[in-house]
Amino acid sequence: MRKTSTKSKAAATKKAGTAKRAPARKRKLTDMEALEALHADKRIDIIDDERSMGNSLIVNLKDGWRFNDEGEHVFGEDSAVEALESMKRVTACGCDDCLKALGRFEAVGA
Ligand SMILES: [Zn+2]
Repeated sequence: MRKTSTKSKAAATKKAGTAKRAPARKRKLTDMEALEALHADKRIDIIDDERSMGNSLIVNLKDGWRFNDEGEHVFGEDSAVEALESMKRVTACGCDDCLKALGRFEAVGA
């Protein structure tokens, strides 16, 4: 058996140990991880990352979903982590636009 570098093996073990411990303590998500979670969220239509232009990370919700108020389908945050946190406030929208878009008279999901 070929002896590989013990250094890299030790590093890998250390890394695995860290990863294993992380979920127990509520680890803060990185911006990239939060962005991935946002992209995986089926309530979101489009995410416009305009942060490089000095604007916000703009989240466009799909038809049938709203942010704070009925008819509020878009919101912006300074970071993906904040946007992901804000997604907890997203609920079903029953505004006229959504009903029309969905072609029905009751909100979807909820
Ligand atoms: Zn709506």
